[in-house]
Amino acid sequence: MQVRWNFKLLPNQSQEATLEEWLVTLRKHRNYALRERTEGFEFNNKDLDSIVAYAYGSYCEIDSKVEYGSCCPLACLVLTHGVIPQNLELAIKKSKIKDKKTKEIIAVNTDWDSASGIQMKVTTQLRKSLDAFASIDSDVLQRNIAKLDTAFTNFFKNGRGYPQFIKRLDSFEYKPGRVLLSNIKKNYATAYLPGIGNIKFHNSRDLSIIEDLRTCTIKRDGGSWYISMLVNIAGALPDIKPLGECQSIVGIDVGINKLVALSDGSFAENKRPETNIRTARRLSMRQRAISRKTKGSKNKLKAIKKLAKQKHKLTQYRNGYGWQVASTIVKKADAIAREGLRIKNMIKRAKPKHDGKGGYKRNGASRKTGLNRVIQDAGWGDIFNKIAWLALKAGKPVVEVQALYTSQECPKCGHVDKKNREGDKFLCRECNYTEHADTKASRIIVRKVGLVFPSNKKTLPADCGKVTLSRYQSLGIEAKNHALGIANISISYSTVGYLRDKAETLKQSPSL
Ligand SMILES: [Zn+2]
Repeated sequence: MQVRWNFKLLPNQSQEATLEEWLVTLRKHRNYALRERTEGFEFNNKDLDSIVAYAYGSYCEIDSKVEYGSCCPLACLVLTHGVIPQNLELAIKKSKIKDKKTKEIIAVNTDWDSASGIQMKVTTQLRKSLDAFASIDSDVLQRNIAKLDTAFTNFFKNGRGYPQFIKRLDSFEYKPGRVLLSNIKKNYATAYLPGIGNIKFHNSRDLSIIEDLRTCTIKRDGGSWYISMLVNIAGALPDIKPLGECQSIVGIDVGINKLVALSDGSFAENKRPETNIRTARRLSMRQRAISRKTKGSKNKLKAIKKLAKQKHKLTQYRNGYGWQVASTIVKKADAIAREGLRIKNMIKRAKPKHDGKGGYKRNGASRKTGLNRVIQDAGWGDIFNKIAWLALKAGKPVVEVQALYTSQECPKCGHVDKKNREGDKFLCRECNYTEHADTKASRIIVRKVGLVFPSNKKTLPADCGKVTLSRYQSLGIEAKNHALGIANISISYSTVGYLRDKAETLKQSPSL
């Protein structure tokens, strides 16, 4: 299976200087390439009414790939000639056609090269004349252009924004097979980075199980350097247990007062890494210190670095605590039920209220901003991702249910009322049933999955960790694991057969 591992690098002073230098050059390189493509597009589309026949190829429509007589290097996924090099020969791509049987070259196919292809060739030439480029590994420069290509593909195909000029670049990549590991000891190992040299790194994993070392990314974060490697390791993920065979299930409800409430009655506290009073005050002090310093001064830079370092520390703390919470939850039962939150919608800005005279009424915007900050600080989405990954490793299904009325519905009589809830207390207006509001919500979530609790509470209390399954109803929802790449670990979909099968069944029945 394929996983992503992160380690902290320990470069010496000169290596660190080289890394910093590389990032500056790579940023300029990327911005230059972006400007060249954008200008190529704008220049060639100045006069939209007249039909312009360009000498260097033709425009292709994205979907049909039909070629027209004018050039649109940006809209062209076949990207015939986004960039026009000074030496026109670089714009031509020659590919050799081999005979399949005899393996002899029978013909040479010439075509216009893609924008990135041309820019890569120009970069290779620049390495001969510019020292800054010559010092950088050629693969790293090529990956830099390839990353820009990905940004353009995201813009055209995945609805992302237009690639932006970068003020600060924090990472670069090596192609698979370039980075070599050696000198593997218990607590540290050495990575050979072409162009930089051997760098020691803290090691906390068993590196001997690596079968194949794929792309390696070097990152700068909060004043420290990290290596993030994509590795193929021995062993495969277990099959996900069918929901009908699960003997126990735990429901989770995320919130602000308690970070997670579990259906067995336990809680995970919300530590509020960035928004607790003490840290929030310190962060605002550091922020103020930055704004007091003269723009562009060394002292300002120092203050910025100080704040970045502290924020990095807090992020790491939240990350570690998130793993703790997720692992406790996954160990609790055979299956996990959670609500489907639209966190993006929850942290939207307060809508402005018009007073009808061209002005605005109070709309509680600053309170909403504060709440948004707290929601983001809790990191619910991150915890969900971690649970998904741990459950996937353990072969346990994660069921997502609709979050509608989980906080208002009474588990005893089914009465739904806003007034049922007061702070963290739940009191039913109909039958006087009372419980902790978050725990109750997590139990409603479990109920929505369709598993039925035993009615005999004497032998098995509702608060017991293991809740035996007595009946299995047919479900409206399929069990699915959400394994996203946002967390510390990303999963290659090719290795997860289960997810692939699920995706196919989902395609066949769009109503799910
Ligand atoms: Zn009730």
